[in-house]
Amino acid sequence: MTNTEPATVGPIVAPVPLPAPLRILDADEYGRAIDAAREAGRRDGVGWKTAEEMAAAALVAAGLFPPPPDAEELEAECCTALSVAWEAEAVDPHSLGEWNQCGDEPGHDGDDHDNGEFAWSDGMPGTVPARTAEGG
Ligand SMILES: [Zn+2]
Repeated sequence: MTNTEPATVGPIVAPVPLPAPLRILDADEYGRAIDAAREAGRRDGVGWKTAEEMAAAALVAAGLFPPPPDAEELEAECCTALSVAWEAEAVDPHSLGEWNQCGDEPGHDGDDHDNGEFAWSDGMPGTVPARTAEGG
């Protein structure tokens, strides 16, 4: 199975947008929000991890979702398709805003992905297709 189109190879592929007014922040926006929360936490004696979790929860509550994880944060032995849990009425509150990686083998057939907890298809809002280049 060879893919001659280089379009999906390489660095981060932008996620399919969420229905407005929900939005997936880019890494820069998200980083600034987290840095601001850490700084505010530092002034008030709140640990950075706690400050970060509070900021993330607040952003998601406002409809602003975190960017997809970097390639090096993904499970190397699994398909790299991703989906963010964004439907508040469909997921448990603790999962909201979490990115899910497909649990199937890399390069599997079809556009459907599943990790046992979440199932999705390429092109759905809040998804990132699998990368076709699996480096070493
Ligand atoms: Zn998959």
